[in-house]
Amino acid sequence: MDSILDDFEKVLVPGLTHWNHPRFFAYFSISAAAPGVLADFLASALNQQAMLWRTSPAATELEAVTLSWLAQLMGLPDWEGVIYDTASVSTLHALAAARDRILPESRSRGLYGPPLVVYCSDQTHSSIDKAVILLGLGLDHLRKIESDGEFRMKPEALRTAMRADLEAGLQPCAVVATVGTTSTSSCDPVDEIATICEQFDVWLHVDAAYGGAAALLPECRVLFQGCERADSLVVNPHKWLFVPFDLSVLYCRDFEGVRRAFSLVAEYLKTSGEGQVKNLMDTGIQLGRRFRSLKLWMILRYFGAEGMRQRVRGHIEMAQEFGRWIDQHPDFERLAPVPMSLVCFRARPPGLPADQLDRFNLELMDHLNREGTLFLSHTRLHHKISLRLAIGNIRTGPEDLNLARRCLVQAMAALRS
Ligand SMILES: *Cc1c(COP(=O)(O)O)cnc(C)c1O
Repeated sequence: MDSILDDFEKVLVPGLTHWNHPRFFAYFSISAAAPGVLADFLASALNQQAMLWRTSPAATELEAVTLSWLAQLMGLPDWEGVIYDTASVSTLHALAAARDRILPESRSRGLYGPPLVVYCSDQTHSSIDKAVILLGLGLDHLRKIESDGEFRMKPEALRTAMRADLEAGLQPCAVVATVGTTSTSSCDPVDEIATICEQFDVWLHVDAAYGGAAALLPECRVLFQGCERADSLVVNPHKWLFVPFDLSVLYCRDFEGVRRAFSLVAEYLKTSGEGQVKNLMDTGIQLGRRFRSLKLWMILRYFGAEGMRQRVRGHIEMAQEFGRWIDQHPDFERLAPVPMSLVCFRARPPGLPADQLDRFNLELMDHLNREGTLFLSHTRLHHKISLRLAIGNIRTGPEDLNLARRCLVQAMAALRS
């Protein structure tokens, strides 16, 4: 074991990207808080496999209890939820339930009747595309609805697209609205989208994989208005709620829809408690389940509702302050609003022609990342390369952002000299 651990430190650790570092600002910054690490260790040591209630009664029950706590914290209705590994898998299950609602016999007949259409915005995460591929709906039937100047889905464009599809003999099936998009953390107008979904009787799935954490704060609830009218919602506690990767939660208004799509009980899995207890194997494509709820339970208990809120609020405040610094600095510009804890910006050094800004910003990012004091990622917004600074690590403090600002200014100077 000594020599194995030696190799771990000498060979593997230098090759790791340190997601737990307080100046990891790339993608969506995440953190494995210590109580969650301990819970993961215990879950592995106990090796629970919660496919049936009787194969792990406590894991089955704790999942329901913690997900009810989380729903209360987020101000969601008392919907039933289930834990999967990632948002991609949560969304796949939501869209499978949406497909089954429209084609109840699809389990036996496969896809029948007119093609089903799924709608999302041009800012939506690629996991929607993957779900559409996997469910056999075909990418030709995924409509990327145009977003506005602040990267939010245009409800009128959604309505127009649905009408056009109906007229062409296609069947609208589901809409995916995002609260906290991956590129900019923009929030689709869920309330208006919910009205359209009700009119056309289609499933509304809300992707709040990252943004869902902000629902803990009363002052951010306005971004989630209308979510209570959705059919399903995904939130990733492994993103901005300090739970070690991986843990994603899917909530559904009518969870029976998910069970109808996935329940199959082989003889060797039948138990006498059927109907009285929940068997997690009925809620998706996996049979076996890890004891993931243990880490969410420990984190929620350890920090408490107010402790969770304080930390998420602190991240938003640091992002707002960083955004203000960008706005005031003559050599930087902000490229998107900051509704949550992500700042999209770029350097604009004086005298540099506009057509060289993309290359300069990518060089700036590479320079900073190579140097290693902080880690940034990028996206493209309205054809411009944008740097992304995401704050979501439990150990990130104002001093880390001071350092980030200094590094940015120094790196820009170094590249311009
Ligand atoms: C990160 C993210 C996803 C995908 O998350 P996984 O859990 O890695 O599958 C989906 N949607 C949004 C909005 C995200 O930010």
